[in-house]
Amino acid sequence: MIIPTFDATAPVLTGPDGKPARKQLAVVKTAPGEGNVSLEWIPERECVPGSVRLEVAYTGICGTDIHVYHDHFRNFPPVVLGHEFAGTVVEVGEGVKTFRPGDRACVLGSTAVMCGHCEYCRQGMYMFCPVRRGMGHGVSGSMTRSVVVRADQLYRLPENVSLEEGALAEPFASAVQAIEELTPFNVGDTVLLSGPGPIGLLCLVLLASHRCQTIVAGIGDDTARLALARKLGADVTVDVSREDLDRVIDRETNGRGVDVAIEAAGAESSLNACLRAVRRLGRLIQLGIVGGDVTVPFDTILYKQLRVFGSLGHSFTTWDRVLRILEQRKVDLSPIVTHKLPLSRWREGFDLCESKQGVKVLLSYDEP
Ligand SMILES: [Zn+2]
Ligand SMILES: [Zn+2]
Repeated sequence: MIIPTFDATAPVLTGPDGKPARKQLAVVKTAPGEGNVSLEWIPERECVPGSVRLEVAYTGICGTDIHVYHDHFRNFPPVVLGHEFAGTVVEVGEGVKTFRPGDRACVLGSTAVMCGHCEYCRQGMYMFCPVRRGMGHGVSGSMTRSVVVRADQLYRLPENVSLEEGALAEPFASAVQAIEELTPFNVGDTVLLSGPGPIGLLCLVLLASHRCQTIVAGIGDDTARLALARKLGADVTVDVSREDLDRVIDRETNGRGVDVAIEAAGAESSLNACLRAVRRLGRLIQLGIVGGDVTVPFDTILYKQLRVFGSLGHSFTTWDRVLRILEQRKVDLSPIVTHKLPLSRWREGFDLCESKQGVKVLLSYDEP
């Protein structure tokens, strides 16, 4: 059962003089509002009973971190950003028998705070726990040297899985839930994937492994990401600012429409394109967050008798599968990582993500 304790409640590690024993640099959201993110010295926390200190090897920059930067995602400053990470155990708290110093692990940061006894927690569907708070926005995250997390948040990395791949486990889990757990994908299916961001491209890796016919749509500034999509196995890529997506769908499906449309851009025009592209009795998976009201021909769901799936994050079941997929090595996630930067250059990393020049940017700790 989940112990509802978390990193931020652990006391600061102090020396004999009562002052913080060790400090580390961290990318911190210091106050509410636009921006207010800077590199700050923070004290290390005590490795309390049941917890583990993990030295962070890599943290991926996520769209959520960018949203926290702009204050478009609920956050609780002062809070250290970052929730997609992997590292090495350097200390274990009292009572921890499952991990030892030297073990490599990725971390399920989304469960930093959960009640452990509501209907959703009991089903392993922690995303829906009413008190849940995740690392990197709800409680302090991983854009620093080391974190203290509950031992049950750790997933041991198999020998053949790198720390870079481990840092992709969290976004990959979102793709695994969307593609592997909601509705089946089979060879012979044609799939439209609208939105070639990191999670969209991780979905594409899975769709390609199912031998689906894939059409990936993006907009003008997605050029680099659409090129990566072709490398990852997309059969057709479409820049909708230059090409008529409806016509491409018509051509590629002989007028039938796609079996499944995956909306991964979180944009009104993309959602409308998905509703037009999907065939009668087809399926729509909503993975992108629009962040506001949209105007869509809602009757399409009825007239085409669609099945519509929302996909929010992942569950314990998903994480178990993620670790098996990583270990079995039938899919290669490494092309998703386009940049590696030292933590002190976090701003450059954020810019690479926002300008869409990068797909997944990994940060690793340094003290300039
Ligand atoms: Zn993320
Ligand atoms: Zn709960």
